[in-house]
Amino acid sequence: MKSDRQSFTLRLNAWFATVMIALSIALFLAAYFLLYRAIEQKEREIVRAQLEVCRAWYVEGGLSALSARFAAQQASEKESFIVRVIGRNGAALFASVPRRADFDLSKLEDMTHDEALRWLTLPAHDRDAAWLIAAEQLPDGALLQVGKTTDALGALLREFRSIFGWVALIALVLGVAGGSWMTRRALAPIRELIGAVQNVIATGRMDQRMPQPRNNDELGQLARLFNIMIEKNAALIRGMREALDNVAHDLRTPLTRARSTAEAALNAEPDAAKCRNALLDSMEETDRVLTMLNTLMDISEAETGLMRLDIEPVPLAELVTEVIEIFDLVAQEKTIAVKAAVPPDLSVPADRNRVRQVLANLLDNALKYTPAGGHVVITAEARPDGVCITVRDTGEGISPEEIPRIWDRLYRGDKSRAQRGLGLGLSLVRAITKAHGGTVTAESSPGKGSAFSIHLPAAKGPG
Ligand code: ADP
Repeated sequence: MKSDRQSFTLRLNAWFATVMIALSIALFLAAYFLLYRAIEQKEREIVRAQLEVCRAWYVEGGLSALSARFAAQQASEKESFIVRVIGRNGAALFASVPRRADFDLSKLEDMTHDEALRWLTLPAHDRDAAWLIAAEQLPDGALLQVGKTTDALGALLREFRSIFGWVALIALVLGVAGGSWMTRRALAPIRELIGAVQNVIATGRMDQRMPQPRNNDELGQLARLFNIMIEKNAALIRGMREALDNVAHDLRTPLTRARSTAEAALNAEPDAAKCRNALLDSMEETDRVLTMLNTLMDISEAETGLMRLDIEPVPLAELVTEVIEIFDLVAQEKTIAVKAAVPPDLSVPADRNRVRQVLANLLDNALKYTPAGGHVVITAEARPDGVCITVRDTGEGISPEEIPRIWDRLYRGDKSRAQRGLGLGLSLVRAITKAHGGTVTAESSPGKGSAFSIHLPAAKGPG
């Protein structure tokens, strides 16, 4: 992993260096070309001016004037020119060639008697230089050739190349060093993140956090998201641990009771009636365990989307009457009046058995947590996007701080301990409603009563 990380830094540096080198070369070529063009232009202007001067001398006084004036000029100037006048028959009428003219002189013979000004560049022997020659026809048809060496141009370009070479080398070294420093700096948060993840993997502890990022760039966002993710995972693991502890605790009580009943029956004098009672008690306790496990599995299935739902139009008035009948005896015993107000033709696409389970749980709770003489009303009404079923009671109510927790698995209110229950009813209600794509809400005023509302969509949405 370490070498991979280093190779990424290396790749980034190599990429940076390549871009730097390519840019330097492009810059060098452009500058070199421009400089070359500018100096060559200058050299041409000098040769051309000399050509004009020689031409004027020739026109003024013929070959003798040209030769005399040129000799005088060459004596006073340090720049030495080639000057030749070639007759129409190709013979050289005048030729002044500096001693250091180290190029193939025969090439000059190839220049034809054209009226237009023409240029020729001839390379010097064994030297990084050249000779620039211009030729133009004189009024009498002879050809005037004037030229000079471009030593100055070569020297300047050589110097330019060497200076640029050094500058490029320094820039490259600085660039690569700066690039690797910048890459290291830029990747520091990534290295920190890798360290944090490695720590979590090695220790399994979820208390690792990235330092609060200073800015909101991509790396800052990554650090923030990592912190949120690890926080959520920690909360999830905490919740799972608590749920597991609660399940273990809630399973132990009925199982211990069943075991002690069986043990007591075994240790007592053999008595068929007592044994039968002990078996009945044990069965009741194991039923409790089974109900709890089944409900837990139902909740998991509904929450993970694995619960099979047989969706069909469910006539709500009929279903509500059915549920009220199931609890008729309990309600009568507690002298609680249960009423329903459901439009007769209202129906919703849902799984009939599961919606019955939801209503049964809500009515069961309403009856459990409402003192004798109270009222429970089940209403249902059409909404633009589905139906809303509400179970309202005049019971003890739930405190506002408690409301968010009543949906948790195995949560039981402190005051509810006196009542039978597993703390799973509302979790199942919520899981089944969500599996139908619906929502569930609870409103309550402590001491006055509670209302639980289920909203089921007309068409099952996602989730
Ligand atoms: P259980 O009823 O088995 O305790 P539930 O999941 O059905 O578990 O309910 C969780 C808690 O919510 C209950 O322990 C109780 O404190 C509270 N609760 C639920 N329904 C009502 C209600 N109608 N009135 C008052 N409190 C309620």
